[in-house]
Amino acid sequence: MNEYKILADLIFPDVTLTVEDYEKKYPCRDLDEKAIVSRYAPSPTGFIHIGALLATFTSSTFARQTNGKFYLRIEDTDTKRTIDNGINKIIDGLKEYDITFDEGPTSETEEVGAYGPYIQSNRREIYHAFIKRLIEEGKAYPCFCSPEELEELREYQTKKKMRIGYYGHSAKCRNISPDEAIERIKNGEKYIIRLKSPGNFENKVKFNDVIRGQIEMPENDIDIVIMKSDGLPTYHFAHLVDDHLMHTTHVIRGDEWLASLPLHVQLFEMFGYKPPKYCHISPLMKNENGVVRKLSKRKDPECAASFYHELGIPQEAVMLYLATITNSNFEEWYNQNQEKSYKDFKFEFSKMNKSGALFDMDKLNNISKIYISRLKATDLYERALKYYQEFDQDFYNLLLNNKEYSINLLNIEREVPKPRKDIANYSDIKKEFWYMYDELFNPTEYEFKNITDEEEIKTILNTYMEKYYTDVKEEWFSKVKELCDELGYASDMKAYKLNPENYKGNVADVSTVLRVALTSKAMTPDLYELMHLLGKERILNRYNKLTNK
Ligand code: GLU
Repeated sequence: MNEYKILADLIFPDVTLTVEDYEKKYPCRDLDEKAIVSRYAPSPTGFIHIGALLATFTSSTFARQTNGKFYLRIEDTDTKRTIDNGINKIIDGLKEYDITFDEGPTSETEEVGAYGPYIQSNRREIYHAFIKRLIEEGKAYPCFCSPEELEELREYQTKKKMRIGYYGHSAKCRNISPDEAIERIKNGEKYIIRLKSPGNFENKVKFNDVIRGQIEMPENDIDIVIMKSDGLPTYHFAHLVDDHLMHTTHVIRGDEWLASLPLHVQLFEMFGYKPPKYCHISPLMKNENGVVRKLSKRKDPECAASFYHELGIPQEAVMLYLATITNSNFEEWYNQNQEKSYKDFKFEFSKMNKSGALFDMDKLNNISKIYISRLKATDLYERALKYYQEFDQDFYNLLLNNKEYSINLLNIEREVPKPRKDIANYSDIKKEFWYMYDELFNPTEYEFKNITDEEEIKTILNTYMEKYYTDVKEEWFSKVKELCDELGYASDMKAYKLNPENYKGNVADVSTVLRVALTSKAMTPDLYELMHLLGKERILNRYNKLTNK
């Protein structure tokens, strides 16, 4: 028997199924030729980066548009990155944004789909069959270098200003004969498995990235670790095996993986497989005081997909924004098709942003304000209820116990041709309308403007309630004007502007008093509507509470 085979059998005595057995077990999916099979392949850290949301949105959209498949694969070969409940958090976190999978884990312990297991730590034997094959062919080898030796190598390379890595002459174990390796393993020496890279760093290779077009990079010559001492493969090797056996057609991922492309393509070629198409999404950038940098998980809370959920930005608004920055022609399409869902848009790789897009919170807020302004009051109410149930039980109860009232409140200046655009997220609802709930109305500060004299305020409020209060919409403003006339304020702005000295102030000043005394705020939706909702008794109570202080 050839010595490579003996070595491979020694390392993997229990591996009985071959690479071909697995290929038979996982045949091509029965899909259209143009169907895209894509995946999201996170470590189970539970964290969803806004960039990952963009990548999953893109991947799932392309799969859906081509009647393909989009699956979840959990990459947990680096056990340090696993957290409790990390898989559930990822599944639930994406579901918030209406991103779901055709195949893959559905919880920490269950999964659906014929290409599993979809959790890498459950695929150990499969990887071993592939690694065994490479060893048999002399394309991978055991490396006996200790961590100290590797550290020494790194220091040496740094000092000599060499490229860092296990390659060429620096790859000490690369030329150990299979016989010697067999001997050393039998003697109980510890080892890991490395790829015997056939590449030459001096050679340039061309790749065709679906988003970025042609890229030229040096060939990989690093003998990367493919199996660690715990018997699990490294990410790169698992990528090859999984995307081959799961028949991924498009690897859509963040561009931090671009540097690994020569290695990944090399791995596919070493097995004689056709690599998938690679689509590297450019990162989301942030402009911080004129300096443009990548969004950072450490520095920027807006980096987490959960941030928007917690703030209560509708998931549709987040997706609309992501679609706007990812496809150059989306915004125009959406402006013409506002009644449609972002899911109806036909996304194209060729229209995708090639350089880092600037993540602009103001723009997202704007999109969200417009989106929310178009919702029906009943819809917004249901959404708010769900949001506050999760984040603010007290306000949830107020909404729940005052259903009609809250819907009417949300309906002020809504469902009209030019709706009010003051709510950017569900948490704004409480910030905007807390004063309309007596349980919350206990202001510490009133935003009075031009009229601040307590006696004058008292006179305005008392006179208004005694003589000019009305709940009839058509009469409401003329009554306020009459109030002005009686108290020496200009009821006509034009007249006021001509001779301000003739008046104590004007109708705007008086309305402000009525408004602020009622709500404590100088800026509110339509005052008549608020008064109408509160009703005479509650208005009186509030005015009395203020003037008796
Ligand atoms: N597990 C890798 C990650 O955490 C996946 C990269 C890929 O999509 O190939 O990003």
